[in-house]
Amino acid sequence: MPSQRPQHEFTLDPENWDETRALGHRMLDDMFAFLQSMRDRPVWRSPDAAAHAAFAADLPADGRPLADIYDDFREHILPFGLGNAHPRFWGWVNGTGTVTGMLADMLASGMNGHASFGDHAEVYVEQQVLRWLAELLGLPKSTSGILVSSGSAANLTALTVARDSIIPNAVSRGLRSDGRSPVVYASDQTHNSVDKMVGLLGIGREHLRRVPSRPDFTCDVAALEAAIAADRAAGLTPVCIVGNAGTVNTGAIDDLTALADLAARVGVWLHVDAAFGAALALSPALRDRLRGIDRADSVAFDLHKWFYLPYDVGCVLIRRHDAHHRSFSPPAAYLAPMTRGIAAQGHPFGELGVDLSRGFRALKVWMCLQQYGTTAYGKLIEQNVAQAAYLAERIRGCAELELLAPAPLNVVCFRHRPRAITDPAVLDAHNRDILASLHERGIAAPSFTQVRGVFAIRAAITNHRSRTVDFDALVDAVLDIGRARLITEGVV
Ligand SMILES: *Cc1c(COP(=O)(O)O)cnc(C)c1O
Repeated sequence: MPSQRPQHEFTLDPENWDETRALGHRMLDDMFAFLQSMRDRPVWRSPDAAAHAAFAADLPADGRPLADIYDDFREHILPFGLGNAHPRFWGWVNGTGTVTGMLADMLASGMNGHASFGDHAEVYVEQQVLRWLAELLGLPKSTSGILVSSGSAANLTALTVARDSIIPNAVSRGLRSDGRSPVVYASDQTHNSVDKMVGLLGIGREHLRRVPSRPDFTCDVAALEAAIAADRAAGLTPVCIVGNAGTVNTGAIDDLTALADLAARVGVWLHVDAAFGAALALSPALRDRLRGIDRADSVAFDLHKWFYLPYDVGCVLIRRHDAHHRSFSPPAAYLAPMTRGIAAQGHPFGELGVDLSRGFRALKVWMCLQQYGTTAYGKLIEQNVAQAAYLAERIRGCAELELLAPAPLNVVCFRHRPRAITDPAVLDAHNRDILASLHERGIAAPSFTQVRGVFAIRAAITNHRSRTVDFDALVDAVLDIGRARLITEGVV
């Protein structure tokens, strides 16, 4: 009997390709205009009532035209983003993105590129950029690695391999296969993603020893060594030292050579969280600050921070491929390598990380690194470091402002400290208020932290659009808002 043909066979492809093409071109033009005119807009605006109404709409059963949905995007979404593409956004450690990165994401998404297995371009491009990045950091050619969603995911991947390498049989029998509790070590300035990951890995947050940092916010290596010795004497298993190359609070870089020496001496893994600091390797003038990073067992960093790429792309490099592979490669018949065809190369990236299905993140890295080259990139890194030094200098030169930490890199922590306010709690509240006003007025977006117990306005400069005048605007606005507040609050 002949099979019956269905009346309608659906697809999600456009019914009218010409219309969709025209709309797509309009979207691209709009995004170029948006990026080109960024400087003329406020850094940030809180989504308005109409936007919230749009966000509250229910899932529709019936579709509607893409052009209408795009209108909603332009009206309710585009104006109300985080603002991190703006020249005066210096909050947390958010990168700016690049035009090329945007285009690359479109190309990768158009291909629906998938980089997990086999004999195809996505895999080879990712292997190539990983080789470039390892070389940049001075790691050997044989270094393993994988692109991941974030610095947090990169830390997770590295700490997993550290755990599995130091604890005998951890992969097969679990964490306490030797009856001892594993311990991880890092300075008290370490990013909280490490706390998150030791919890996730079953090591437990209490078994992350946060060693006090020195006055320059780098790790106190002698205190670290004493902590490791004490734990060993108590029958625990020291697993990993996490060094920092650019702490989130102040941009401090630990003495990585001393940490590498210590790790080798006591037989633990050295992981370096270089979330943004890794980018220093792009500058011949600044590269030396990372001295010792080439001795790490693993390095985590983000390309969506100080490599300026659009979200989301992080990277972890792991010195020993066999160790890396062992943690993520349980056998499966449906994933076994073929001798020929698409699956001829086995499953290179599916066996090196958490994700099996994974997108073509590597394309934007590949395109941007080639377009700008390490030379232009290096100059931009130097420019941001010089801008941080300029901002710190302006703060030092103003009696009403206080620089709260050394600014050796691209992070500047400061506050408004008028003589009229002496109470520490009032001073904190005063600066919180200044920061909120900076955001609400759309002037600039630094973020905040606590430095030795006081509230700090914090600018982390990973922005290729910032100019010196933008930092003048920040200083002037902090002074204006701060002085005006003294009057309105009746302080003076
Ligand atoms: C940002 C950051 C992380 C986390 O990276 P994400 O990409 O935000 O997950 C880890 N460590 C440091 C030092 C960071 O600055």
